[in-house]
Amino acid sequence: MSGFDYDLFTIGAGSGGVRASRVAARLGARVGIAEEFRIGGTCVIRGCVPKKLFVYASQISEDIEDAAGYGWDIEGAGFSWERLVANKDAEIARLSGLYEKNLRAAGVEIHRRRAVVAGAHRVRLLAGGGEGEREISAERILIAVGAKPAIPVGLAGAEHAITSNEAFDLAELPKRIAIIGGGYIAVEFAGIFNGLGVEVALCYRGAEILRGFDAETAGILREEMGAKGVDVRLHAVPKEIVSLGGGGGGGGYRVAFEGGDCVEVDAVMLAVGRRPNVEGLGLESAGLEVAPGEAVAVDADFSAGVGGICAIGDVIDRAQLTPVAIREGARFAMRCFAPEGEAPPPLDYGLIPTAVFSQPSLSCVGLSEAAAREKYGEVAVYASRFRPMRHTLSGRGERMFVKLLVAPGDGGRVVGAHLIGRDTAEMIQLLAVAMGCGATKADFDATVAAHPTAAEELVTLSG
Ligand code: FAD
Repeated sequence: MSGFDYDLFTIGAGSGGVRASRVAARLGARVGIAEEFRIGGTCVIRGCVPKKLFVYASQISEDIEDAAGYGWDIEGAGFSWERLVANKDAEIARLSGLYEKNLRAAGVEIHRRRAVVAGAHRVRLLAGGGEGEREISAERILIAVGAKPAIPVGLAGAEHAITSNEAFDLAELPKRIAIIGGGYIAVEFAGIFNGLGVEVALCYRGAEILRGFDAETAGILREEMGAKGVDVRLHAVPKEIVSLGGGGGGGGYRVAFEGGDCVEVDAVMLAVGRRPNVEGLGLESAGLEVAPGEAVAVDADFSAGVGGICAIGDVIDRAQLTPVAIREGARFAMRCFAPEGEAPPPLDYGLIPTAVFSQPSLSCVGLSEAAAREKYGEVAVYASRFRPMRHTLSGRGERMFVKLLVAPGDGGRVVGAHLIGRDTAEMIQLLAVAMGCGATKADFDATVAAHPTAAEELVTLSG
């Protein structure tokens, strides 16, 4: 046992911090954790979970429209934003409670307040939760503070805008919203608001939404979103947000773009990325210099190399996703505290499936076509865009898209899969398993189709 108060002290009880703390405690470490907001972190409180619940809510408007073709007459359907928000709140309170219960069951000591680094192996617990400020020592300090929405520097009137943090708890649903950004959070919220009947302008400065994803797939998603009524504006560089009719926003806002375009809305949402949450954390007191908004650099053991500081999750910015933060947390704890000889190898970030809960959803795993061409030179592309069976009777024009990228030079291995369509998020997990096992196009072709499904398209693609 070390001479410190704790073997491990974790700052931040989100996806990564909770998992690391529980695993370490179960392995016999004396663990403390501090949380300044709510246990569960971004994913549970204002990320994946409430987002997905809102996606479900917004899809129901289309289900009601589609029902007519299936013989159903649904009259008088109404929607209550207040009820949705209240039900969402109840669910995240339940989940947050479960996270807390699991931490306690593992023997982790919870401090419900802000904590900062006070020096090498030292943490300052700031006054809060009825307790005064005090310092504790820890052999390892795990920085698991996540990330926060970026605010574009130099955008006049940015203070009028909300971010995803506020979007989950708006007092009322706006009639019109401008979403500034083109990443997955912007695209998902465009679908959510559009499905709930809000007029949505999605305004992105680049040439195509979802930078870094497969460009053809992103373009098809943009078309499908446009067909559903989202006003997608590319090359839209915001210059200024002006409050109309007084400072309170009661008269709405005008977003002016470079080049003279503008849009008038009731709410503006900024979704231009998330930056590691390192400001004011006192890292420099332990000898670790990290510029505001920059990621904490760590080695394969998640150690920053000074003062017992380690870091995992969004704050190290390797892949800002919950399952990645959870794996990093578990791997960190096991590599530090598992009995000798039982520690797992460093984490492999090679094949991370991604689901964008846009409407329709976009899911992918492996390389984009551009990245595959760069890596392999020659790449065979197998793609199909088709009307899913669901929309034969619904009459909706929406089409699905599947695309497999195959590297002939690598034994015909499937190196990228890109899908668009409702529920593709449920398909991508299993594709990731197959691709992780090195499946080739011949393996896909040899697999008998499950019929009638959209997924069978994956095993019947010809060149
Ligand atoms: P977090 O979960 O952010 O936890 C950090 C915690 O640290 C917070 O609770 C914070 O309050 C606390 N904290 C910060 N500073 C201090 C301090 N000084 N003292 C005490 N406590 C502190 N990922 C997916 O995989 N799938 C999705 O569908 C998905 N959707 C998302 C949707 C939205 C709108 C957003 C914003 C994110 C989404 N993510 C999604 C990303 C996912 O939420 C994050 O990758 C994940 O939560 C990162 O976990 P973490 O442990 O690094 O940080």
